[in-house]
Amino acid sequence: MQDIRCKRCGSSRYSKSGYVRGTQRYRCKDCGYNFKLGDNRVKVKPQPEP
Ligand SMILES: [Zn+2]
Repeated sequence: MQDIRCKRCGSSRYSKSGYVRGTQRYRCKDCGYNFKLGDNRVKVKPQPEP
């Protein structure tokens, strides 16, 4: 279960706004901000081989 919230105003009211490069985009119904999931830019380090 995902907790999707607007990154600008924190609202959880959103509508789907289409796909960009295979990523679902959302649009905040309260402030109109467009955002998508998984753009917090956390890179997963590759596991070192034993
Ligand atoms: Zn918002």
